Amino acid sequence: MTLDPKQILADVFGFSAFRGRQEEVISHVLAGGSGLLVMPTGGGKSLCYQVPALCRDGVAVVVSPLIALMQDQVTSLRQLGVRAAAINSAMEFADLVAAENALRAGELDLVYVAPERLLTDRFLALLDDIKVALFAIDEAHCVSQWGHDFRPEYRQLELLATRYPAIPRLALTATADEPTRQDIVERLGLSPDDVFIAGFDRPNIRYLIAPKEQARKQVLSFIQNGHAGEAGIVYCLSRQAVEETSAWLNEQGIMSLPYHAGLDRAIRAGNQDRFLKEDAIVMVATIAFGMGIDKPDVRFVVHMDLPKSLEAYYQETGRAGRDGLPAEVFLVYGAKDMAKIRQFTENSGAPEAQKRIERQKLDALLGFCETASCRRQVLLSYFGEDEHEPCGNCDTCLNPPDVFDGTVAAQKLMSCVYRTGQMFGAGHVIDVLLGGNTERIRKFGHDMVSTYGIGEEYTRREWQSFVRQLVAQNLLTVDITGHGGLHLGAEAGPVLKGARQVMLRKDHAVAKPAKEKRKRAAIGVAETDQGLFEALRACRVALAREQGVPPYVIFHDSTLAAMAADRPRDQYGFALLPGVGGAKLERYAEPFLAVISGHSS
Ligand code: ADP
Ligand code: ZN
Repeated sequence: MTLDPKQILADVFGFSAFRGRQEEVISHVLAGGSGLLVMPTGGGKSLCYQVPALCRDGVAVVVSPLIALMQDQVTSLRQLGVRAAAINSAMEFADLVAAENALRAGELDLVYVAPERLLTDRFLALLDDIKVALFAIDEAHCVSQWGHDFRPEYRQLELLATRYPAIPRLALTATADEPTRQDIVERLGLSPDDVFIAGFDRPNIRYLIAPKEQARKQVLSFIQNGHAGEAGIVYCLSRQAVEETSAWLNEQGIMSLPYHAGLDRAIRAGNQDRFLKEDAIVMVATIAFGMGIDKPDVRFVVHMDLPKSLEAYYQETGRAGRDGLPAEVFLVYGAKDMAKIRQFTENSGAPEAQKRIERQKLDALLGFCETASCRRQVLLSYFGEDEHEPCGNCDTCLNPPDVFDGTVAAQKLMSCVYRTGQMFGAGHVIDVLLGGNTERIRKFGHDMVSTYGIGEEYTRREWQSFVRQLVAQNLLTVDITGHGGLHLGAEAGPVLKGARQVMLRKDHAVAKPAKEKRKRAAIGVAETDQGLFEALRACRVALAREQGVPPYVIFHDSTLAAMAADRPRDQYGFALLPGVGGAKLERYAEPFLAVISGHSS
């Protein structure tokens, strides 16, 4: 017996239509097919196995590498009235036995297990005795050594294809380049014809990048202008920076918690829990934070230092806006950061071939930071999607920089680097261009070089920006062995000879998030509905606290926003809201309807 997927979507999940390729993948699985689904974070992968799990007889076995992720999914599904359980090593023995018994008795629609448990003889024997609807292999890039998070135990999932050839296997991942995809297909015994790729774009994320000046102040004003009272993540490179930034934000009245690998395990877990369960915490963290965080309503992600690569940037920023509502990501970076990362690469002790790849990755990252065209286009084309139009939702689209013929400026800068001996950092070179009177200039007699004082038509800040741009264009390189001295790059010759033109960008003061003064306009709440929206949020937090679950498993912000706008007066109206299925209607209509009717404006 197979139930209608559209009906399940409406009755259980409370959604009226499938998105993107969901319907196609679901029909494929319902017809008994296996395959690989590559869809960006927030694209709606989970529904692609959850809906078939409910349509087909038997239990869906979901392989997931992280206990926190499993727990979150199970909690969300139970809120929807779905019979789901996890089986993992973090559980009490009694709960484990109960879950196994439920599984054996056919009382579960979905069961989440870690790969190492799935592969035990005991668990496989159990599966032999029951009806399995399908296997879903989440975070499938873990199968591949080419992926960024290889897990040896994923390798053995090969066994599923031979042991259960008739049961559909759906592998899912948000990040897999071509070699990784091939590897997954081979390892899991899938067919190359059954790869569903949904594209990389995250249209609801707005990309903002600014030169680093006073990083903390920049971040504070970013948060205050449009993200007050919202949950977000601020990434820093070092543990110390994490602690200091978090403390500072708290002093400025932004509720913030630190997270890094050096913190006591219990403190870390506690901070993570609060981030998930409260509505407006800013987590200041190293990149140790984020794996397995499925919080859908992270409204912003900030990088106070350059990420390691565009892949890393994409993954880290991808944690914003999983719920599909507008989100903003903000990166501040400076020339020093670049030098630091280059140094890190060069000193890594990695084989030359690998260093070369890493240099290329770094160049791509810098090109992205310095581009004068649409950020999204640059980002997506890096991932192989060249077909996108300018997006209208990044800083360069919203506030196009002025591009000018900067050949003369480039020549001045480069010859000044040359005249001063290719050993000084940007600060000193710019001092010379501006005709400064510093001790160093006097000491080295740099007031005598021909480039002394020839750069007064630009400000220091503009010169700094030009340095970064020339580095990004490989016309200058930063010496990574010592003090960040500038050298002429490989392509410098033709520019100095006047045989090649250089286009430069004028930086705007500081990338400003969109100007409109709007508190929650971003997530679609009109001015007049804000009071009610906040009241609904308070109701959600109270209900969540009673049950010890994160607020977003009760309703997503989008459901509350629709509630504030539509103001349903009875169960019928309430049932029409997106994200309200049968179980939630029954459980939550009453308390939320009471808030609406008690709210008189
Ligand atoms: P992924 O696992 O790909 O990161 P999720 O499965 O968590 O994405 O889905 C992201 C968000 O989109 C969730 O809030 C989910 O409820 C919502 N969503 C998914 N499919 C639909 C749909 N067809 N209609 C409305 N919302 C959807
Ligand atoms: Zn754009």
